[in-house]
Amino acid sequence: MAQREAELRGVSVVVPMYNEAANARPFWENLSSVLDAYGQPYEIIFVDDGSRDGTVDELRALAAADPHVKLVLFRRNYGQTAAMHAGIQHASLDVVVTMDGDQQNDPRDIPMMVEKLSEGFDLVHGWRKDRQDALVNRKIPSRIANWLISRVTRFPIHDLGCTLKAMRREIAQELELYGEMHRFIPILAHQRGARCVEVVARHHPRRLGQTKYGISRTFRVVLDLMTVTYLLRYFASPMKLFGMAGLFTFAVTAVAAATTLGMKIAGGVDMTGNPLLLLTAMSMFVSVQFFSLGLLGEVNARIYFSDTSKSSYAVRELINFERDYTTVRLPRTA
Ligand code: UDP
Ligand code: MG
Repeated sequence: MAQREAELRGVSVVVPMYNEAANARPFWENLSSVLDAYGQPYEIIFVDDGSRDGTVDELRALAAADPHVKLVLFRRNYGQTAAMHAGIQHASLDVVVTMDGDQQNDPRDIPMMVEKLSEGFDLVHGWRKDRQDALVNRKIPSRIANWLISRVTRFPIHDLGCTLKAMRREIAQELELYGEMHRFIPILAHQRGARCVEVVARHHPRRLGQTKYGISRTFRVVLDLMTVTYLLRYFASPMKLFGMAGLFTFAVTAVAAATTLGMKIAGGVDMTGNPLLLLTAMSMFVSVQFFSLGLLGEVNARIYFSDTSKSSYAVRELINFERDYTTVRLPRTA
């Protein structure tokens, strides 16, 4: 693909761990053997998300034995998204790879994904084409959710839920992740101009430990979909959404008011007994509310972007500057 700026060097693997005591060591063994063979500099950043089953002891032992292993220990369980965010912010090498620590993702896919980045992509995300999870409460809801998300965001995708991803570090560290937002990483990155590509990744059934999620996750993801859609389309100009709604309800007000008056003058219909008068009053209030929301949103956006670390655009590359500002590390977000 496109000619590339600088060569990518080094892989930071970010792994959220929550009650994965049985998986920690075999996972590390498999991952290390792949990364050692790959030959690039690497670090493995485990983020313990408040485990209560001895995962931390396992991780400490790994960190003591292997200088590639780095640990971020949360005080309590904050969720997979927060864990991924923390790990990503602590990454220091050129490529950030995220993956689950339960051995469902396969480290053997990592070299292939990193190579793909070198072809000129900014983000490579996995598609668990042959997904090894329960059909009824996992695969089917996931299919529906992915289809819906793909339609709503107009982002062609098969599988957003696959944690296995490889990204250029500056792209990864720019992501603002909260809620269940890590499921939207490719879409969020794409909105910032990242060149994304989906590749088929291997997937294994969970052999040790338990899944942390059930069917309720689907609903939370759908709620986050609304947030993401709003953020993508209207965050920088909320008046375009709320102002349109305000104009529409104002038009309703005008029509209802004119009709009420017309009926009074032409047909002698009593105004107070006419439900259209009620509609006039209500839609007027609603339209004022919409305009106010739009204005508040505009003020919010202004405050958000005036915070020096945020910008409404993303620079891909600067040429002939003394320093490459695109790779300057962003301050941490909440
Ligand atoms: N995880 C986490 N915090 C949580 C839930 C999960 O760090 O609150 C980690 C978990 O240890 C695993 C990954 O996120 O490494 C994916 O979780 P899980 O395997 O339960 O999800 P599934 O594969 O069933 O979708
Ligand atoms: Mg899993």
